[in-house]
Amino acid sequence: MNTTEIILISVILSCAILLAVGLGILLGIDTRYRKIVQEKSTKVIAVKELNKQFNFYRIEPKGHLIYKCKSKREFDKCNFYGKLCEIILEREVYFNGLIEEIEKNRDAAKEYLNQYNAIQSTVTYEDAKIWKVPYSRFIMKEEAICEKIKMKADTDHVLEFLVIYTSPKGVNTYRVQKSFCFDEWKNYYEEALQARKNKTEYQRQVQRERALMTDDLRYNVLRRDKFRCQICGATAKDGAELEIDHIIPVSKGGKTVMGNLQTLCKRCNRGKSNKYDPD
Ligand SMILES: [Zn+2]
Repeated sequence: MNTTEIILISVILSCAILLAVGLGILLGIDTRYRKIVQEKSTKVIAVKELNKQFNFYRIEPKGHLIYKCKSKREFDKCNFYGKLCEIILEREVYFNGLIEEIEKNRDAAKEYLNQYNAIQSTVTYEDAKIWKVPYSRFIMKEEAICEKIKMKADTDHVLEFLVIYTSPKGVNTYRVQKSFCFDEWKNYYEEALQARKNKTEYQRQVQRERALMTDDLRYNVLRRDKFRCQICGATAKDGAELEIDHIIPVSKGGKTVMGNLQTLCKRCNRGKSNKYDPD
């Protein structure tokens, strides 16, 4: 090792030591500043107080739903969104709870943010001077601390839905997969709920209309139509079995009233049922 090398190494070593000492001092100052800000900042104290008033639900960021098809045929025919709605409806209680928690979190988070943003710094140049922290450093530290302790609510829950079919020996696997954010799957869920409600309502309506079909009404329709099929004219004497038909089907809002009823033979009625929704 020659002299030049020794000098060079000494210089590098000295620089490194100086740098380390310098960094240490800076870090020490930084820690001291932070401690002062933590103690003195009314903004930090106010944010801590605010945090005590809020309590957000803990929401898992992601959920998984899987539907395993029993055959390739079922997989091919599977209605992806229909299946998703079906599975969600099966777990209605769970998803109702989840939706409620996310929506409460969203409302609370909005309120929290409003109050958080309203909290102002109250430190003055004079304060900073007394506490021996440069004013701009105080403000910076204060902002950083507040940002760090600011509460963050879980406001989304991504639902991953997978429809899968694996052939018996596991040779082939077919899959369709899609992710839905909270607002998307909530939409599907609400639509499915509404569809189920409509279906129940429709069934009730059909039952109501059926109950209105009394023997009296039936006889009055037959007599008005002269006991003849209103399409082919057949009568009981021709061996026809006469039935009372809703001209506008109950499924389309047709009522059980004379004006919407007609006599049809069984054959013609079957023919009509094929053209319209059966009622
Ligand atoms: Zn007929």
